[in-house]
Amino acid sequence: MRAAVVGRPISHSLSPLIHSAWLAAAGIAGDYRALTPEDGQAFDAFIYGLRREGLTGINVTLPFKPAALALADRSSARAAKAGAANLLVFAEDGIVADNTDGAGLLAALEGAGWGALSGPVVVLGAGGAARGALVALIEAGVTEVRVVNRSAERAEVLAELDAGARAFAWPNVAEALRGAAAVINATSLGMTGQPRLELDLSPLPGDAVVMDMVYQPLETELLAAARARGLTAADGLTMLIGQAIPSFEVLFGRPPPEIDVRDLCLAALAARR
Ligand code: NDP
Repeated sequence: MRAAVVGRPISHSLSPLIHSAWLAAAGIAGDYRALTPEDGQAFDAFIYGLRREGLTGINVTLPFKPAALALADRSSARAAKAGAANLLVFAEDGIVADNTDGAGLLAALEGAGWGALSGPVVVLGAGGAARGALVALIEAGVTEVRVVNRSAERAEVLAELDAGARAFAWPNVAEALRGAAAVINATSLGMTGQPRLELDLSPLPGDAVVMDMVYQPLETELLAAARARGLTAADGLTMLIGQAIPSFEVLFGRPPPEIDVRDLCLAALAARR
C-alpha cells in the first residue's frame, strides 16, 4: 500500500515521518513519501500519474489544496465548503476529495479543554487555513466565529460563508477578542522567517484557549504570551497530527496504532534549528 504527500516546497513536511512511523508500528508493508511535481509539470497530470502507479491516495499541502479539490470527481461536503482538499483517495470509480484539516484543528482545541459551546471563537487570517477553520468550527456547533484579517475585504468575503461569522478589520482585533472562548492564529505570522504576530491578549477572558496553527517554531511568541497570562495554549503540531489520523485511516484502511509520533516530530523540528 503506497501513499504520499504532494506540495511545493515539500522537503519540510513532517507527514512522511508520521505515517512511516505508524506503518512500521502497525506492521503494514506500506510506503508514504513526500513528492512534488517536476518544474513545468501540471499538478493534475502529476496526480493522474500517481493514480496510474497504483497509490491508494495522497495528502495535499500548499499550494495545491484548491487544485486538488478542483480535479476530484467528487468531494465531501466539508472539503467543498472549505474550497480546498488535503486528501485525495484514488477509488475505482474516481478521485474523491476530503479535508481533514478541520478535524485536526478541533482535536487540538478539544485536547486543550475547549468545547464548541464555550462561546465565540476568533480566527486570525482569511486564507485557506482560516476558511477550513471557519467551516470546521461552524460544523462543530460554534454559533459565532469572528474573522480578523489584515485585508478587511478578505475577512468579509470569508464571513459571508455563514450567518454565524462576523468580519473584523485588524485594528479592531481587541473588540473581537473580548469575551471570546478561543483565538486561533491561521495566518503565517510568527512562523520562522515571517513577520512577528503582535497581539495583545489582555481582552481575552481568563479561561480562553489560544491556538497557533504555526508549528515552526512550535512555541510561538503567541503561545508563550498565552501561557504567561495563564491561558491554555494549543500548538500547530497537535493539529498536524490530528489531521493525519483520519488520513491514515482512509489511505491504509485502519486507524493508526497508538504510538507517540509527537516526540518524533519534536526531534525532527529540533534537528532543523
Ligand atoms: P494563506 O497564504 O492562504 O493565508 C495567509 C494569511 O496570513 C492571510 O490571512 C494573510 O492576510 C495573512 N498574512 C500573511 N502575511 C501577513 C502580514 N505580514 N500581516 C498580516 N497578515 C498576514 O495561508 P494558509 O491559510 O494556507 O496558512 C496559514 C498558516 O496556517 C500557515 O502558517 C500554515 O503553515 C498554517 N497551517 C498549519 C496547519 C497545521 O496542521 N498546523 C494546516 C494548515 C495551515 P491577507 O489576506 O491580508 O494577505
